[in-house]
Amino acid sequence: TAGKTFIAVDLGAGSGRVIAATTDLSTLTLEEVHRFDNPGTDLPGGSFWNVIGLYREILEGLRRAVARHGDAIVSIGIDTWACDFGLIEKGGELLGMPHQYRDARFEGMAEAMHAILPESEIYARTGIKTNFYNSSLHLLAELRKNSPALANADNLLFIPDLLAYWLTGRQAVERTNASTSQLLDAATGEWAREVIQALGLPEKIFGKVVAPGTVLGPVREEVAAFIGRAGIPVVASASHDTAAAVAGIPMEGSEKLWLSSGTWSIMGVETDRPITSAEALGYGFCNELGVDNTVRFLKNIGGLWLIQECKRQWELDGEKLTYAEMASLANEAESFTAFIDPDDAVFASPGEMPAKIRAWCEKSGQAVPQDKGQVLRVATESLALKYRVVYERIRELTGSSYSRLNAGGGGIQNELLSQATADALGIEVVAGPVEATSCGNVITQMVGTGELPDFKAGRDLIRRSFEFRTFVPGNQAAWQAAYVRFRELLAVV
Ligand code: ADP
Repeated sequence: TAGKTFIAVDLGAGSGRVIAATTDLSTLTLEEVHRFDNPGTDLPGGSFWNVIGLYREILEGLRRAVARHGDAIVSIGIDTWACDFGLIEKGGELLGMPHQYRDARFEGMAEAMHAILPESEIYARTGIKTNFYNSSLHLLAELRKNSPALANADNLLFIPDLLAYWLTGRQAVERTNASTSQLLDAATGEWAREVIQALGLPEKIFGKVVAPGTVLGPVREEVAAFIGRAGIPVVASASHDTAAAVAGIPMEGSEKLWLSSGTWSIMGVETDRPITSAEALGYGFCNELGVDNTVRFLKNIGGLWLIQECKRQWELDGEKLTYAEMASLANEAESFTAFIDPDDAVFASPGEMPAKIRAWCEKSGQAVPQDKGQVLRVATESLALKYRVVYERIRELTGSSYSRLNAGGGGIQNELLSQATADALGIEVVAGPVEATSCGNVITQMVGTGELPDFKAGRDLIRRSFEFRTFVPGNQAAWQAAYVRFRELLAVV
């Protein structure tokens, strides 16, 4: 295609991709140029990421992108999972290997942190409720063990910041990702200095925070020599993958209700200012920051992990099914025979998912789903009903009503779930794009480099480029009755 090309590097906790997005400003096409694994590794002393390995895979992806698109490439942007970070000493060297957010060092740290500052105070400032993966807890753990890395650190960079630094030589902390740390002020988008001081963390490591779309600078000479082109700028994209996904989901007017549907589901609204009430904390909502000075007021919900894990288990048991085959089995199964709580801790760990779903139904005195179709149906309808619970709370906390849910990500390919979501919520579901994260990464670069005037133009470009499907709510009496049963089952008040 003739046009300009933007490179989106999208790293997940299991694998990474390098995508070349080409546009003539009328439409956008995406092409995967490189894919690689991102295996975290457990070692004595912790669970770590192989960040140098990731960096080399990114270089390889950039080399392939340059081979195909050469001079058409305008810029590069990186998004990754949130919270994890590296510490940099004065001379610019990374101190030690970045830990994984699931590293056991967080154990006991929530209690330690709340003994210094109650969660309500931290929430009022940062808009983030305490979760095991927050950078705040992991930094506190380093402080408590007199970590030599922390003692000698001059700067803290989150994973996408670190990779962008290695590409460009420029150190900067991108705001959307930093907002997940529980150390950023949700109202100002700057570091929450009072929280940092109270916890006793070294203030000097919290450096300049830049907005998504900030041009960091051209790739270093060594990088240019390897990839085959000099001077390509790296943009601090919406570097938290969820922020990128939300940026990549077109929304109109006051209809700012969104669902990022992948391995995990995240539902939220795009708002102008944080909501840090006691009710919002009590319901477990977080205020993460988005592109264009927005707040992503959101809640994590169990997601297609349930279905992905069923697929994996059946494959281990000797029956390989495609998503299409699973969809037809689920479509044929009877509705509303039983429900599970997708957020129950038993479902969080990998392995034996169909057996776990059956056991949950049995334990709660419900009909036990027998065949594969029934297991999938129970999981799908339960997810949709859990979305409804979160949706009701969003309506309560924002005082707004919505007539549409804008859903993006790989999970929207599950049509039974998209329809069930429309049915359960009683509002339209507009599904698209599948590649919301890459799309959001790319339009942030386009706005940052001046190729597009604003994010609205970016979302319009996405709308013109991909297929969007609308699911209209049906069967409302039956779904309402199912919701009442579901709430009783989960004892939701
Ligand atoms: P991640 O959050 O890991 O980036 P994706 O956005 O790629 O995930 O979405 C992955 C999920 O999408 C899978 O768990 C799977 O359930 C669902 N999915 C992917 N492809 C299909 C398909 N063809 N049909 C139905 N569901 C699909």
